[in-house]
Amino acid sequence: MRIIVQKYGGTSVKGLERMRMVLARIQKAHALGYKLVVALSAMSGETNKLLAQAREFSADPDPAELDVLVTTGEQASVALFTMLAKDAGLRVRSLLGHQIPITTNSNFTRARIMEIDASHLRSLLEDYDVLVVAGFQGVDCHGRVTTLGRGGSDTTGVALAAALEADVCEIYTDVNGVFTTDPNLCSAARKLERISYDEMLEFSSQGAKVLQIRSVELAKKFNVPVRVRSTFTDDPGTLVTSEDTEMEDVLVSGIAYDKDQCRITVRNVKDTPGVAAAIFAPIAEAGILVDMIIQNTGRDGHTDMTFTISRVHLDKTLSILDHLRPEISADEIQHDIHVCKVSVIGVGMRSHSGVASTMFTLLKKENINILMIATSEIKITCLIEEKYLELAVRTLHDAFGLGEGPAVACV
Ligand code: ASP
Ligand code: MG
Repeated sequence: MRIIVQKYGGTSVKGLERMRMVLARIQKAHALGYKLVVALSAMSGETNKLLAQAREFSADPDPAELDVLVTTGEQASVALFTMLAKDAGLRVRSLLGHQIPITTNSNFTRARIMEIDASHLRSLLEDYDVLVVAGFQGVDCHGRVTTLGRGGSDTTGVALAAALEADVCEIYTDVNGVFTTDPNLCSAARKLERISYDEMLEFSSQGAKVLQIRSVELAKKFNVPVRVRSTFTDDPGTLVTSEDTEMEDVLVSGIAYDKDQCRITVRNVKDTPGVAAAIFAPIAEAGILVDMIIQNTGRDGHTDMTFTISRVHLDKTLSILDHLRPEISADEIQHDIHVCKVSVIGVGMRSHSGVASTMFTLLKKENINILMIATSEIKITCLIEEKYLELAVRTLHDAFGLGEGPAVACV
């Protein structure tokens, strides 16, 4: 049995006309002899609408009930689409997360998939051409409905493909694939033919919304080829796949950015063992993700600690730090929300040096001050003032040869 998993995002299922386009794609794959497992998102705007409604009813909605509420978006999509597909003559049925089941932990609103009953799906595929699965949702071991975090239908798609050992997981969206940078910021952005799992992980964690990060982690772990493509064009899209030597020849694959950043500096804390733990443990316990961290060289037994978090967590973080103040003997706590991250990403950096210094030189030429720097094996990130974001992205995109023009040589 040859199986393809396809996932369609919110804009692809918004209304009858678009669902007809989805149906045409599915019929095409079916005509080629494939069985299909199709994961659908809620129609675009639906999840946001439900979340806003919950806040009208409760100042702090119960997470388990939030999940019961928001999963109705996907439930409506799969029911409507299955009706359409059945009328077109396909042997098709819908499946909600708990009917498969897709078993998750009990972390409501951001659960992780533990297991998928693939043998149940395979036996259903004996009788059906197409199974239409509600994305984003699962069920915990107590039978309670869970969701996988925003954008979680991508993860449903990849997890289904991994469990069924499908030939490919196609992620259908409203853009032609993964781009060298955001085309809205830089008109020279180009669609990539291929990208490695690791690069895609960096793109996703830098705020590129095209794939949920967890879906890329799963794809990498189970080696699932993922093709990101548009429902509305015939472009073959971008293949997300394992790294090969050809990819390593390309120094830089793309420029990512993240505006959802906020910098906090805790001034003059004691420079003694345990200070970092004292600051970051309570922040982590509050479920707040800290991104870049810098601890300055100490002077007179004191030092400054600077770090970045997502802007939504600013108030909570400041109040945690305020409580800690006596314990860590901090002089002052400063914050700045007018900052953003710009990252240069490429697996080629594993084997080439000089990308970081080239990036710094290019930013200097534009008189852009670097506030913080972080690196990984395949990424250099600079925190800069938000007003320079567009200039930085365009400059780096051009200079590293991602557009049409000639690339700079790395120093
Ligand atoms: N409907 C959910 C969301 O908007 C899941 C998804 O579309 O992937 O986040
Ligand atoms: Mg999405």
